[in-house]
Amino acid sequence: MSPEEQFKFIKPGEVRTRIAPSPTGFLHVGLARTALFNYLFAKKYEGSFVLRIEDTDLERSTPEFEKDIIENLKWLGIEWDEGPDTDGKYGPYRQTQRIDLYKKYLEKLLAEDKAYYCFCSEEELEAQRQYQMSQGMAPKYSGKCANLDKETVKKYLAEGKPSVIRFRVASKKVSFNDLIRGKVEFDTGLMGDMVIAKDLNTPLYNFAVVIDDFEMKISHVIRGEDHVSNTPKQILLQEALGLTQPQYAHLPLILGTDRTKLSKRHGAVSVSEFKKQGYLPEAMINFMAFLGWNPGNEREIYSLASLVKEFSLENVQKGGAVFNVKKLDFLNGFYLRQRSPEKLTELCLPYFIEAGLVTKEKADLNFLQKIVSLYQERLKKISEIIEFTDFFFKEVLNYDKELLRWKDMEDKELKDVIDKLEKILSKIKEEDWNKENLENVLMPEAEKTGDRGKLLWPLRAALTGKEASAGPFEVAEILGKEKTIKRIKQAKELIK
Ligand code: GLU
Repeated sequence: MSPEEQFKFIKPGEVRTRIAPSPTGFLHVGLARTALFNYLFAKKYEGSFVLRIEDTDLERSTPEFEKDIIENLKWLGIEWDEGPDTDGKYGPYRQTQRIDLYKKYLEKLLAEDKAYYCFCSEEELEAQRQYQMSQGMAPKYSGKCANLDKETVKKYLAEGKPSVIRFRVASKKVSFNDLIRGKVEFDTGLMGDMVIAKDLNTPLYNFAVVIDDFEMKISHVIRGEDHVSNTPKQILLQEALGLTQPQYAHLPLILGTDRTKLSKRHGAVSVSEFKKQGYLPEAMINFMAFLGWNPGNEREIYSLASLVKEFSLENVQKGGAVFNVKKLDFLNGFYLRQRSPEKLTELCLPYFIEAGLVTKEKADLNFLQKIVSLYQERLKKISEIIEFTDFFFKEVLNYDKELLRWKDMEDKELKDVIDKLEKILSKIKEEDWNKENLENVLMPEAEKTGDRGKLLWPLRAALTGKEASAGPFEVAEILGKEKTIKRIKQAKELIK
C-alpha cells in the first residue's frame, strides 16, 4: 500500500501522536516543528496528541529544561490532550515514573533469552572497536557474553560485576513503509547486539520508547529524520515482544541557509530566544509549518486552526527544509501589523522597561502608544522598537553633523535651512502644534527650495539623529514644541 493510500483508512478519533522530548536542552525549533506536525496530524483526524517526557538520561535531564519545553510549547499554542500535567488514561507521562513497567518487559526478554547480561568492560569494548576498525570492519559487538551459562551470569550479578542488558539482534532485512519517504530498508547484520538497558531499572531510549509507544497506543510516530536509523532497532524490539507497530513518518532535517544542519552557528535556535527577540507565536507556527510542508499553492498565511484543516503528511517533502529567517521576519511583520495599537504597545512595554527607557510604575502608555504606532508598519520583531524609538527618550542626541546634510548641500545653505526652521517653528503656537499644521506650514517652504529634501531631511535628521525614521511632522508632533526647538538648536550648534 502506498503512503497516500494508507491515509484513506484512518478513522476519525483513532490517531494518537506524541512528542517525546528529552529535557536535556531548551525547546529547539526542530523539536517544536516536530511537535507542531504531530499536533496538526492528530487534530486533522480528530485524534489525540500526547506529551511524554523522556527523562531516563538522568545525568543530562534537568527540571529547568523540562519547564522551558513545556512553557514554550504552551506559548506556541501547541496544546496536548495528555501529558505530565494533565489527566490521561495512559499515564504517567514521564519516563522516570514508568520504571516498573519497563522492568517487566526487560524481564520478559531476559526470561525468553531474547536479551542477556553483558559484562564486558568499557576498555574491552573499546579495544574490540579499535581492532575491528583496524581490520577495515564496521565496529559491532563481538557477542562475547551472548552465550554465558546461567550459573556464571548469576554469580557475576551476585558479585556486583558491572553489566548492561543487550538485546539479540537477528541478522536480517528490516523494512518499513515510511509515510513520507516510502519503503525504507535496513540490514541489521551490521548492527550487533544492542544495549537496551544499563540494568533492570535503567532502560535506554530505544527500549523505553518502544514500550511507551505501545502502552500509550501511539498510532503514528512522526519525528525527525535523525531517528530513521533507530526505527529498525525499535521494530526488532516490537517483534521480539509481540507488540503492534505504529506507522512511521520521518520529517526532513532543518538546514541553515548554507544547507548544513541548523545549529547555533546559524543564530537563534531555541524557541525562547525567538520569543525574547519579539517573534509572535502565530508567526512561529506559520513559519514552522513551512519547514518541510507546503500547501501545494501560493498561500503563505496560515493560522494554527487553518493548518489543522490544510495540513497533510502527503505534502511533506523528503529533502532538507531551509530555515530562512527573512521569511520569519516577513510573517512576523504581518502578524504585528494585525495587532491593535493598544495590544502592540503592551507587547512593546517589557522591551522599553528592559532598555531602561521607562519604568514599570511610571510608563506613560499614551505616549508609548503614539511612538509605537509610528513604527507599526515597519516593525519585524518587537525588540526593534527600541532602536527605532530611543531618540524620543533622549535629552541630547549623539550624531555626526554630516547626517544633517542633504545630498551635496553646501555648509552655508544647510546653516540657512536650520536657521529658517528655527524661526518658522518658533512661531507656531503650542496649541497649533500638530502634524497637519506643521505640514501645512513647512511644506510650502520645502517646495520653495526646489528640492523638498533640502528642508525636510535636515529637519528629520535633527529631530531623530538617525539615517532612517518616521516622517518629520509625525515625530515633531510627538516630541512637542519645546523638545523640537531644542533639537534644532543642537543641530545649529553642530554646524556653526
Ligand atoms: N526523546 C527522543 C528525542 O528527544 C524522542 C525521539 C522519538 O520521537 O522517538 O529525540
